[in-house]
Amino acid sequence: MSIIYEVEHLHQPDGWLSPGYVEIDGGVISSVSAQRPDGEITERLRGFGVPGLSNLHSHAFQRALAGRTEFVTTARAEDNLWTWRKEMYRMVDRLTPEAYEAIAAQVYLEMLQFGMTAVCEFHYVHHLAGGAAHANPAEMSDRLISAAMRTGLGMTILPVLYAHGGIGKPLEATQKRFAHSVDAYLKLIETLRGRRAGNSNLRVGVALHSLRAVTPDEVRATLAAMKTIDPQARLHIHVSETTHEVAEVEAGLGARPVQWLIDNVGLSPDWCLVHATHLDNSEIAGLAASGAVAGICPLTEATMGDGFFPLVEYHAAGGAFGIGTDSHYCTSTAEELRMLECGKRLELRRRNVIARPDAAHPEHEVHTGRVLFDAALAGGEQASAQGGGALVAGRRADLVMLDPDSNPLLGHGPQTVLDAWLLSGTQNPVRDVMVAGKWVIRDRHHRQEAAVRDDYRRTMAALAG
Ligand SMILES: [Zn+2]
Repeated sequence: MSIIYEVEHLHQPDGWLSPGYVEIDGGVISSVSAQRPDGEITERLRGFGVPGLSNLHSHAFQRALAGRTEFVTTARAEDNLWTWRKEMYRMVDRLTPEAYEAIAAQVYLEMLQFGMTAVCEFHYVHHLAGGAAHANPAEMSDRLISAAMRTGLGMTILPVLYAHGGIGKPLEATQKRFAHSVDAYLKLIETLRGRRAGNSNLRVGVALHSLRAVTPDEVRATLAAMKTIDPQARLHIHVSETTHEVAEVEAGLGARPVQWLIDNVGLSPDWCLVHATHLDNSEIAGLAASGAVAGICPLTEATMGDGFFPLVEYHAAGGAFGIGTDSHYCTSTAEELRMLECGKRLELRRRNVIARPDAAHPEHEVHTGRVLFDAALAGGEQASAQGGGALVAGRRADLVMLDPDSNPLLGHGPQTVLDAWLLSGTQNPVRDVMVAGKWVIRDRHHRQEAAVRDDYRRTMAALAG
């Protein structure tokens, strides 16, 4: 039986319907129209209905480290990603499967509260401390899947192939928890593909940790095997996050990392290049032309002091991008997109840097919030393959309702609501969130929020102790 919602203002790929009627059948949108369809209206929804975003890069457990590394000492006076990583590894050494799941559940619940309906989880803590496998080799992956199911968040799980401690370097002690041979890795992929039965919001993709941690032969072997296992699988990799990494790959493989990928793996829209912070002009053009998604994680890149993605040049070249909350200093879409746009304004000393005038319609106002939101929406869907990403027939029914009574949205209509949400205010306007036709947040509350937070509180106390 189908359900029909009348939405006061409904986001569409080419504008808004006010009102819009959405008909949902079995978790999928069966029709959208400006005219009231036959049949009874199940509910009238006040406010602005927008599609749920896919968060394209997450390491859920790193949330436990947020706010714990903001200091210097004589020994770490020059703090950067690599000194931060030492602190991260100290925590990894103490992570249990229970803690992994509890932290993930809290992070996933917050993602829903901020209007994300799916996550790409780039998951590399596979084994016991020391490197021995769990009795269930997929134990840690299963914990993440369980956290996503508990909260109702869609998940594209990306088990990570991690085999070396740097180009030509053995794994460090902590990194043994991350390691697989290509064969063992492919076995894990097969196991996780089996978990999709009974969980229609689960997808399984591939993650290569980086060109530092996986050799060219391992990259080729994995990609060749995936052509048989799942030719449509999404392929993610960390790349060019720091200048140190660019120099190491250039010395070891003879090309800058993104250029190496362009020349050697045949980048396509199936790929998501996470960070891609340091790009030369040829890499900007090549990456944009490939159709791959750049996975920008603005607040993580900012807190790590990595550098700033060349957004304006890349967007002008037609490059696709999406947003990840990565280490989860923050789990808010609005904060991430604000950092991206406003950081560029500071750098370039001008306003509205991503939006460009519409040459065909000189009077048409091109709004920054809309450009940012639509780009992150398309890039997130492309990188996650969740089947959502737009409120149109045939897509998964992932609907986020923004509250017109929240302070930042007061007085705003469809034309400026995304500017108001993403670029102003501190109050979160997300009121209701639906994933695959099911409400998981209503009136700002999730049924599991107290229990999830209790588990998280206990976990954080144990990790701090
Ligand atoms: Zn990452």
